[in-house]
Amino acid sequence: MGTQSHCAECGTAWADGQTCTDHFHMMGFWELEHQLYDVHHLMVLCYHLQHPGLYSPEGLEGAKKLLVVFVEEGVSPQAMRKRMSKATDSGRRKYKIKGTPDSYGGYAQPVEWEMVAADVVRAGIDDYYASVRKWAELTLRTLRESGNLR
Ligand SMILES: [Zn+2]
Repeated sequence: MGTQSHCAECGTAWADGQTCTDHFHMMGFWELEHQLYDVHHLMVLCYHLQHPGLYSPEGLEGAKKLLVVFVEEGVSPQAMRKRMSKATDSGRRKYKIKGTPDSYGGYAQPVEWEMVAADVVRAGIDDYYASVRKWAELTLRTLRESGNLR
């Protein structure tokens, strides 16, 4: 009793004591165990976007842009890594990606996610790629419709 039953960040109702962190680890385990790496970038991005406090405010803004680039422009993570390493090498990135207790990301408008990590896990490993791709599309749509992404 007295245990938390909802995620304070993404609003997921935790069933059977499975938290969002557990779902995140489960997806990571599936990827590792079954070599399902193609959507790793989307999975990590969606998970963090739905838990914006893991980011710094600037990191969250960067992550939103990254989701647009991946989902709408269809840029591959390999191509993106090249772009980003160039930006990092030239010292253009002057901020921290990760949130701290004093400085972390959040959304100006309330967000109700249509799909969360728990849904991907529930759909099962056989649908993993399709689930994560749908999760990325819905995450982007929700961000737009809630007015948190222009
Ligand atoms: Zn959560």
